[in-house]
Amino acid sequence: MHPKTTVMPLLLLRDVVLFPGETIPVILGGEKSLIALDRALEKEGRLFCVAQRDARIEEPKKKDIYGVGTIGIVDQVSRLFDGRVKVVMEGKRRATLVEYLQEEEFVLVRIQEMEEMAGSPTEVEMLMREFQEIIEDFARLTPETPANTIPSVVGLEDPSQLIDAIVAQIDLELSDKQEFLETRAVVERLAKLLTLLKRQMGVLKVETEIQSQVLEQIQKEKREYILNEQMHAIRRELGENDEFEDELDALKNRFRQKKMPDEAQHRVARDLERLRSMPPMAAETTVLRNYVDCVLSLPWCEYTTEETDFDKAERILEESHYGLREVKERVIEYLAARALAPKLRAPILCFVGPPGVGKTSLGKSIARATGREFIRASLGGVRDEADIRGHRRTYIGSMPGRIIQSLRKAASGNPVFLLDEVDKLARDFRGDPTSALLEVLDPHENYAFNDHYLELDYDLSGIMFITTANALDNIPRPLQDRMEIIRIAGYIEREKLHIAKRYLIPKQLEIHGHSQEGLVFTDNALLAIIRRYTREAGVRTLERQIAQVCRKSACEVLTKAKKARIRVTARSVEKYLGTPRYRFEVREGESRLGAAYGMTRTDMGGELLSIEATAMPGKGILYITGQLGEVMQESAHAALSYVRSRSKTLSLDPNLYQEVDIHVHVPEGDVPKDGSSLGISLATSMASALTGRPVKSDIAMTGEITLQGRVLPVKGIKEKILAVHRGNIRNVLIPRANIKDIPEVPSQVLRHVELTLVESMDEVLDRALLPDDLAR
Ligand code: ADP
Repeated sequence: MHPKTTVMPLLLLRDVVLFPGETIPVILGGEKSLIALDRALEKEGRLFCVAQRDARIEEPKKKDIYGVGTIGIVDQVSRLFDGRVKVVMEGKRRATLVEYLQEEEFVLVRIQEMEEMAGSPTEVEMLMREFQEIIEDFARLTPETPANTIPSVVGLEDPSQLIDAIVAQIDLELSDKQEFLETRAVVERLAKLLTLLKRQMGVLKVETEIQSQVLEQIQKEKREYILNEQMHAIRRELGENDEFEDELDALKNRFRQKKMPDEAQHRVARDLERLRSMPPMAAETTVLRNYVDCVLSLPWCEYTTEETDFDKAERILEESHYGLREVKERVIEYLAARALAPKLRAPILCFVGPPGVGKTSLGKSIARATGREFIRASLGGVRDEADIRGHRRTYIGSMPGRIIQSLRKAASGNPVFLLDEVDKLARDFRGDPTSALLEVLDPHENYAFNDHYLELDYDLSGIMFITTANALDNIPRPLQDRMEIIRIAGYIEREKLHIAKRYLIPKQLEIHGHSQEGLVFTDNALLAIIRRYTREAGVRTLERQIAQVCRKSACEVLTKAKKARIRVTARSVEKYLGTPRYRFEVREGESRLGAAYGMTRTDMGGELLSIEATAMPGKGILYITGQLGEVMQESAHAALSYVRSRSKTLSLDPNLYQEVDIHVHVPEGDVPKDGSSLGISLATSMASALTGRPVKSDIAMTGEITLQGRVLPVKGIKEKILAVHRGNIRNVLIPRANIKDIPEVPSQVLRHVELTLVESMDEVLDRALLPDDLAR
């Protein structure tokens, strides 16, 4: 019925296909397979070896078993120590399973040997030639497994055997191998093997290419490393100190000793590693080295213990500063509020006042009182966000912003940080620094401040920021809203005298190496210095002048006998400081033609200005020279219009203006903050010049003028009156509407000046100009 059919026991193979000509070991464990083996060995030891489709199935049914297998002969049998049996099977011929004869005791099957289809000899030959070429390459590309075996099979003549031998050895899926087994036509098998080998070789080629690239890269790095090492070695040999290496070592040492958050730690570790293999002279190397240095120099985890003893804080403020009672009280209140609710979005202290009134030194004392370090940075001229937030590290000169830069100098992460000159922030097309600054100052945002240069979050929340400004007007509004403004207007003479005696002189004596008794200033000497060598709201120039006396007298001390004292008196001051710079005469009775004292405000506090006007033959032109802003031009014109409108009362020829030119000059000084407040003094000087009636010289005035000659209120009355007091002028005219500001003026000052409230320019001229008859 079945031509060339045979009956033999079945041996089930897992995960493997047996090819004719191949020898494989098979482990037999199951009862049925052991019986099948016994039955086979009873005859010629032949078994039908066939694979199961899925190796994971424990008890395969008929449908789980392939229909084509191989007749194999048992080569060896050995019993394993665990009772199982190992047989070595040698594949002989392909066969197809025809039917199952029995399955109970063991599986017995009928099979039919498979006839091979040889194909046309020319076709086979062609394919074989191609195959020979490929297989050699293949062997070269796969040095591991089949390589050593393939050359041996290449010697095989019969294509069918050859293919079986190769397929048996290469790494293929079980189903693919089974397909080879099932293909009868040799040509077809050969073609299939060729495509398979070509595909494999494609993959292999890419793999080797990648591998060689990786290898090349490694070799390049290695080479650079070795060259670098050699260069260092040569330098050492030449006796040149290898600075770069020393520097790297120093950085590494600092890194080892530095405590930093993880992010920074990893960053520096990585960059130090990179630096080692970088050429020392390259620009990138410098950039990276500076960066690492910057990160290492920041206080990341260092903090000083904060002091919360407010009595002590009060004592320190009291000791270090004279007067300023209200300021000190507010500072203590502020510190207490901060300590009570540290998480609160507390406002930032802002000291506003002219130079030399102690804003910086107050900051220092606050630092001392709260157990913090003190650092400062100026915001003057900061014009864009990058000044605050830093530049990205793209070019050699890139730097961190002012905040991080200043912190590099700090040893702890919770200092008092004084930001000077918040009123000098500039703004231009590159953007507004205000918002960046607001972020810096906001405790809800500043715990993760990201400087563009640093590229690491830095926690600013431990810092106590204090800001200073000369004038409130120029502080950007959003910043003002976040700050607690404390104004310091300036000191009066008596206060300056005290500050000099108690603070400035002892300090300067020490700096200049004088003993505290060796150099003595009399009160009169100090008053002379204050009056004739300084004209300021604060005490900065005063301190400088005292320093100069100390310096100049140092030689004297050396030449004099030991223990001799030097007394600086009002008379001897000139010896040290030269000719006095300012007049301080009582001006009573004096008068000046065409010159009036005006009061204004500048960054330096209140200021007294002498405004001068001259009338000369001409064509009715108004010349204005000196320190004049646009506002003052307007004031000058308004003032002139007023004077012209009063021709009659002032007994002036109404046509006079067509025949004279008027020249008004405002002396150089600091730029006035409120030029318009010079209005009434401009009008007074012009009226004086035109009428020929001199202005009383012990009178100063401030007030804006309207065309009709009304006097409008002005700002900064307190600072202005302090300035008048400094200038030793007794009579002051201020706008009536400013009456509300008088209580701010210290009472000692009020005792020395005579305040007159004025509403109209007519009143001003009445009081300021000498009567007509007296003038002539
Ligand atoms: P600012 O920062 O306002 O320009 P500084 O703080 O630099 O002023 O003060 C200038 C000098 O005057 C410092 O030596 C400071 O100690 C001293 N000084 C200012 N005000 C006082 C004061 N009230 N008591 C003692 N010294 C003062």
